[in-house]
Amino acid sequence: MALESLRDLYIDQLKDLYSAETQLVKALPKMAKAASNQDLRSAIEEHLEETKNQVQRLETIFQELDESPKGKKCKGMEGLIEEGAETIGEDGEPSVIDAGIIAAAQRVEHYEIAAYGCARTFAGRLGLDDQVNLLQETLDEEANADKKLTDLAESMINEDALEQGEEEETTTSPARGSRRA
Ligand code: FE
Ligand code: ZN
Ligand code: FE
Repeated sequence: MALESLRDLYIDQLKDLYSAETQLVKALPKMAKAASNQDLRSAIEEHLEETKNQVQRLETIFQELDESPKGKKCKGMEGLIEEGAETIGEDGEPSVIDAGIIAAAQRVEHYEIAAYGCARTFAGRLGLDDQVNLLQETLDEEANADKKLTDLAESMINEDALEQGEEEETTTSPARGSRRA
């Protein structure tokens, strides 16, 4: 599709996001299943439900624009999902894999935050206020998901992963979990 106007670019970006979100709906269950930490698993499962709503919001926007959401593959998200799949495909300590899942998931969230921020701004310039609101709702969900992942990493998962390495180096280190007690 030729990019002759800001509207063309807006639709092009929305198609990319639609592809990104539909790829994620398929990928997130695999990431949740690979997570050992129960809180991480629930956080990913909750974000899966939000992601399904995000797909619907995009469908609403495409209906309003009288355009099709199809026709583009988001290669960025394809690559990010592929990297996440590499991480969960590795053998290793569950807590270290969990820290890797968070690192992969945060790449995804930041990619989406960048894309929705641009799309929302274009919608604003085009005077599409309803669409600004819908895109902002999604943007807020992505930011919350990112923050939740940071909280999980900082409150426990990174420390669990660190203790794994320490236990391998010395047998005198305290048992897992006792430091947090
Ligand atoms: Fe999303
Ligand atoms: Zn993309
Ligand atoms: Fe997301």
